[in-house]
Formats: sequence, C-alpha cells, structure tokens
Amino acid sequence: MSYVDEVYDRVVKQNPGETEFHQAVKEVLDSLKLVIDANEESYRKMGLLERLVEPERIISFRVPWVDDNGQVQVNKGFRVQFNSAIGPYKGGLRLHPSVNQGILKFLGFEQVFKNSLTGLPIGGGKGGSNFDPKGKSDREVMAFCQSFMTELSKYIGADQDVPAGDIGVGAREIGFLYGQYKRLTGLYEGVLTGKGLTYGGSLVRTQATGYGLVYILDEMLKDNGKELAGKTVVVSGSGNVAIYATEKVHQLGGKVVALSDSCGYIYDKDGINLDLVKEIKEVRRGRIKEYVEEVPTAVYTEGTGIWSIPCDVALPCATQNELNLEDAKTLKANGCFAVAEGANMPSTREATDFYLENGILFMPGKAANAGGVATSALEMSQNSQRLSWTFDEVDERLHKIMVQIYAKTASAAERYGVKGNYVAGANIAGFEKVVEAMTAQGIV
Ligand code: NDP
Repeated sequence: MSYVDEVYDRVVKQNPGETEFHQAVKEVLDSLKLVIDANEESYRKMGLLERLVEPERIISFRVPWVDDNGQVQVNKGFRVQFNSAIGPYKGGLRLHPSVNQGILKFLGFEQVFKNSLTGLPIGGGKGGSNFDPKGKSDREVMAFCQSFMTELSKYIGADQDVPAGDIGVGAREIGFLYGQYKRLTGLYEGVLTGKGLTYGGSLVRTQATGYGLVYILDEMLKDNGKELAGKTVVVSGSGNVAIYATEKVHQLGGKVVALSDSCGYIYDKDGINLDLVKEIKEVRRGRIKEYVEEVPTAVYTEGTGIWSIPCDVALPCATQNELNLEDAKTLKANGCFAVAEGANMPSTREATDFYLENGILFMPGKAANAGGVATSALEMSQNSQRLSWTFDEVDERLHKIMVQIYAKTASAAERYGVKGNYVAGANIAGFEKVVEAMTAQGIV
C-alpha cells in the first residue's frame, strides 16, 4: 500500500464520523501523491504525513449563556490549533448549528496550506461553536461571545493564535469578542482580525475575500486567453464573501445575475442591484427573498437550484459541499467555463474531478479565497507597527498577493507535469513551504 493510502486509512480509522475531515485529507494527499512518492523514504522515516494530519492541539469547551427569557443555554465551543510551523495559528471562528469537531478539523487542515500559499508567516487553525446567531438579539449574541471568549482567551494571543471571522462571525461578533478579551487580559493587542476600524481593524478586510477571489479569477482567465468583462456570473451565498465578490465582478465589467441564501436564490437577468442586497443583508439582516419585493422583474426560487442558471463563470461562496456532480454537469451544459471557490470546499470531490476532466478552469478555495486571511495578516502587521495603511495601499498589497498565489499555483502544477490543474498546484505550493519549516524544526 502506498504511504498516502496508508495515512488516509489511518485518518479514517482514528477519526470516526469526521467525514468532511476525511474528504479534505483525501483531496490534499491525492493531489500531493507526485511529491510524496518522490520523497517517500524520508517522509516515512520522519512520520511527516502522520504529523501533518494530526492537529497540534484541539481545545473543546462548554459555552453557557443566558437568553432573553432568563433561560440558561449551553453550546459547544472549539479551537483547533492545527499547525504552527510557519507562524502563529490563524483562521476564522464559525458560528453555525452545523459546527462540530470534524468540520473544524477539515477547515483547520485546509487553512494550513492556504496560509502557506499567501507567502505570509501564519500557521493554520480554526474554531467556532454550534451556536446559531440567526434570530438572536444583540444582547444574546453578546452574552454568547463573552462566554465563548472567557474560555478561549486562555489559549490565544497576538503571537500565539489569532482568530478571525467566518460564517456567522462578522464585525458585531468580533467587537464583542475583542472587548471581552481586553477586559480579561488587560492587553490591547492584535489578538483578533476583522476588527472595527476604530479599534485596530484594517481597511479592505471586509472586502478582502471577495475581492481577492475575483483578482485571482481574473489572473486565471487572462492566463488562459479569456477575460471577465462582459461575462455572466452566478454567485452563491449572500454573506460577506458573496457580496464583495459581486462588487468586484461588477467593477471589472462582469455581470452577476444570481445570489442565494440557505432558503433559496434570486435571479435578476439585468444584473444584481448590490446596494439593495447590502441593505437587506448588512443593515436589516434579512433574507435574500426580500430582494424581489423591491425588484419585481427579479425571480425568487426556494431551494438549492442556483447552479441551473446559465452563466459563463460560477463562484460558489456559501458553504462546503454546496455544488455536486449534477450541478457541475449542468453548469458545463449551460456553457460555464470557469469556477472559482469563494467558500471552503464548496464543490464535492466528484464535481472537482468533473471540472478537471472536462476542461473547466477551476481555482480551488485554498488559493481562491486566501485573500481574506492574507489581509488578516496585513491587519496583524499594522497592529504590530501601530500604524494604519490606506485603503489603496492594502488593496494593492492584496492584489499583488493574489497575483503571486496564482503564479505559485500555476507553476507548481507545471513543475509536476499537470499544467492547468490548480488543485494540485495549490496543494503542492502550500505543502512545500510547510514541510520545509517542519523539517527544519525537528520532531515536534
Ligand atoms: P456569511 O455568514 O457572511 O455568509 C454565508 C452565506 O452562505 C449566507 O448567505 C448563508 O445563508 C449561506 N449559507 C450558509 N450555510 C449554508 C447552507 N448550508 N446552504 C446554503 N447556503 C448557506 O459567511 P462568509 O461569507 O464569511 O463565508 C462564506 C464561505 O466563505 C464559508 O465557506 C467560509 O468558510 C468561506 N470563507 C470566508 C472568509 C471570510 O473572510 N469571511 C475567508 C475565506 C473563506 P444564510 O444566511 O441563510 O445562512
């Protein structure tokens, strides 16, 4: 049995029920096969893959809080500190009822390679809770965040572990978490990113994941003799990543015609009115179907059928496994020629294989959504320097980072004889740096 298969079997056996984690490990290890086979003897001797798939530490804790009726509620809290070979753990906090240890391990594992790809000194981690912020009052969200941070604060720090936002964690939650950290530790330090601009946040962080996604998409299209201008684009989700991806597509001359949330999707053939979406999602915290009440020519459909809308480019920006093989086939049949992932692992393994086998240009989330964490690292730099850079300065750095990620990804794929396979390219480029750092630091 090959070393890769052996390690994968061991992961499945030792981590029962953690299907998303198995899926992420399989995808990464399979695409690294060429590199691993070439170095099998030394990697085996060093237990390199066994160490790589085992988080350095997982913290799991109780989060008790009191709701508006005076009732005590209890949620599960986690932080997965996956790998610190190249810098302090860095990765978001997710608040969603679906959160469990397996999902956070998959996200933390992916984060290790993504962070490496950015070229910045950040390790990989992820955390969160099965708390659902939807429908909760501001006071309830604050009570939850304060309780969550009371426990988490013991394990994080500006040079140790720097969490950020993810699904369900935006500016409001980061504010409550930061306030509680400061109160508990007395430290005014860059322990979280995605902070508000009045207390250490960075310009462009809000836009960074969506903008970065479109910057790398633009690079991929140009390198393959195509362009974004004039193209029809479908974006799933209507949260932070989806909104700012839409904004950048429009700025670069493309037209986004559909957005969704977990209940359904809207189709506006004239192009999405983004100001209205921001008003609904960011101000009112409403549902995407409210859009059609104000734009009667747009259509709302319940359910998950967003990928049936014809488009040139698809940008899945909602959640994991939201685009399956059937969806990929429908996209192809409707003329879609490029997919770039704003979300983490939104395409199933079968859908990913279909893109690669059918000539669809495909940029995986690990590279495509790395702009968020890269800008978080820029926020850390500004906090350490006690400086704030201008919007244009940060945006320019973000753009440069995305161009470099594209170049590293494309060239790693080419080096290993799989030109145009950006899944392999991103995994190889991210892996090489982490392995070099782990090897240099001995058996830890
Ligand atoms: P938000 O919470 O702002 O938005 C998430 C969006 O996806 C919402 O519209 C939500 O709809 C929808 N969604 C969530 N779960 C499901 C589901 N099960 N089925 C269908 N739709 C769903 O999150 P973000 O925009 O921050 O994150 C989106 C994705 O991007 C995630 O995979 C995240 O890990 C990834 N990402 C985010 C980064 C960031 O900087 N924010 C950085 C890198 C990756 P509803 O409101 O109905 O729940």
